[in-house]
Amino acid sequence: MKHAEMNRRMLLKRRPHGLATEQDVPLVQQALPEPADGQVLLRNRFLSIDPAIRDWMSDRPSYLPPIALGEVVRSTTIGEVVVSRHPAFQSGDLALGLNGWEDYSLADGAALLRVEPQEGDAEQHYLSIFGAVGLTAYFGLLEVGLPKPGETVLISAAAGAVGSLVGQIARIKGCRAVGIAGGKEKCRWLVEALGFDAAIDYKACDNLVEAIREACPRGVDIYFDNVGGEILDAALMTINHRARIVFCGAIASYNSEVPVPGPYNMWQLLARSARLEGFLIRDYFGRFPEGIAQMRQWLQSGQLRFREQIVDGLENSLDTFNRLFDGSHSGKLLVRL
Ligand code: NAP
Repeated sequence: MKHAEMNRRMLLKRRPHGLATEQDVPLVQQALPEPADGQVLLRNRFLSIDPAIRDWMSDRPSYLPPIALGEVVRSTTIGEVVVSRHPAFQSGDLALGLNGWEDYSLADGAALLRVEPQEGDAEQHYLSIFGAVGLTAYFGLLEVGLPKPGETVLISAAAGAVGSLVGQIARIKGCRAVGIAGGKEKCRWLVEALGFDAAIDYKACDNLVEAIREACPRGVDIYFDNVGGEILDAALMTINHRARIVFCGAIASYNSEVPVPGPYNMWQLLARSARLEGFLIRDYFGRFPEGIAQMRQWLQSGQLRFREQIVDGLENSLDTFNRLFDGSHSGKLLVRL
């Protein structure tokens, strides 16, 4: 297959202070690399727009090293193999990997996963419902949250990619699902379209603790935390004896320049003999086929609904990424190249 000579890439030129800007992440053109033995050249088709990328842009300890200055912004992508020097891939194959915001990615074949969509699957589903997003909801809730029928599951960033699925899986498991989201529209979508039992608009609420108590009259057995900060603090005040908190994300602090104080109500863990446990999807990598099979079955039977928001153009990656932090999207954000 014929491919371009130049590669458009979004590079991390300097570490952002707060929201990333075009000065931090300029779009540049560089010569297209040639794959060496064991490598594959991919033409990216979809970029996954994830909050964790903001963490990788900072120079602080995390589960992956920071993106080095001058390197492409790291992101999971799905692409078509254009040149392969790895025996497991040939041109035309679809592959998924931790690549970058760029038209073409050079990758080690051993670090790529072949994507073979089944009938009815869209290929970008492997970055959303069948990817880290859907499987975070699945394994995070089921393996760390350990839901039992009749329990109450509270979810923050509930109208987002992960949160919207967590609430629906909680319902499938016979739980009461209560979402916290910003804005009336998102709350209406959660209850009317996705079947959440209740939703709390945290932006329009004077007393979040009271609002959670009202929406969760039997208390909170599982809090699926995507946000951290003040919402975690409020949720801690509402947990039941032996509650489980799935600590999945802390988006409220990703753009923060200073250490975020709190949570102040950690004592509630002791007072309720409760557990807060960090969750990382990559710990479940070996179980992805099981998770994908279950998510596909729920999707096909109509028990799960899912929203993707697809934006076209590499040049729009940064603006699209920043939408994660202003709440102007719902469901999974993707960039199509
Ligand atoms: P998302 O929920 O689709 O998007 C982020 C949402 O967070 C926004 O739409 C916004 O919704 C809310 N938000 C942003 N800033 C906020 C703030 N300061 N306070 C309260 N809410 C805020 O993103 P996602 O991809 O599904 O990820 C959700 C969380 O899961 C993130 O924290 C992410 O890092 C984490 N995650 C973790 C893993 C893992 O392995 N641990 C894997 C995937 C994702 P509102 O309009 O409702 O405010």
